[in-house]
Amino acid sequence: MNDKEKKHMSKFLSLVLRHKPKYINLELDENGWAEVDELIEKAKSRHMHFSFDELIEVVTTNDKQRFSFNPNNTKIRANQGHTVKTVDLKFEPKQPPEFLYHGTVGKFLESIKTSGLDKRRRQHVHLSEERETAIKVGSRRGVPIILSIRALEMHRKGYEFYCSENKVWLTDHVPTEFIEYNLSSCPNCKDSIEYSPISDVFMKVKFKDKSEKKVYKKRCENCGTNLVMNKYTRNHLAYSNYSNWELD
Ligand SMILES: [Zn+2]
Repeated sequence: MNDKEKKHMSKFLSLVLRHKPKYINLELDENGWAEVDELIEKAKSRHMHFSFDELIEVVTTNDKQRFSFNPNNTKIRANQGHTVKTVDLKFEPKQPPEFLYHGTVGKFLESIKTSGLDKRRRQHVHLSEERETAIKVGSRRGVPIILSIRALEMHRKGYEFYCSENKVWLTDHVPTEFIEYNLSSCPNCKDSIEYSPISDVFMKVKFKDKSEKKVYKKRCENCGTNLVMNKYTRNHLAYSNYSNWELD
């Protein structure tokens, strides 16, 4: 199978194992498992023809490890991300590390600051151990903003955390007091950048149309790009590339 075929099949598996098993009239048990034979047979009704070996190939080479088999490879399920309400993966509660990360974009920040992180249509809030993973997640929607979650402190206060087989941490809700909003990312190299009004250089810039903006300026330590953040929109923590601005 080539990459395009694998991707197509992976999308199909996400659809039927996470969201719409009814699309091919597939049965998931209460833990999210589908019979492999049944999956292969019923997929044909939607012109998805694949063998058991091809299914193994897609599952084992998926870089996000979205799916797993039971020990004797007779059942398959998605590791997390279900919107099917009847599925409960029965993860064991587990103690999280001190910090977990969540990638989002500026337009969601206001609501996160008001009501914390909600699971919305999913069954859980998804968090990652690595900043890089959170950056990737945020990048799908725009310039990523990385939130640090004081997970261990939450855990000590009685919030439950679960860890899926592909190392995604799950919890029901993150109240806003456990979220730290100090991390942004470089629009050029996507490296995470700590926002600090103290060390950032505050200055006025003049545009060709004679308008002025008050900004905080800093250099990305990773790629050296000069970055600016508008003083009045800094709630959005979005740095932009200084050289793209048309200055007087
Ligand atoms: Zn950079």
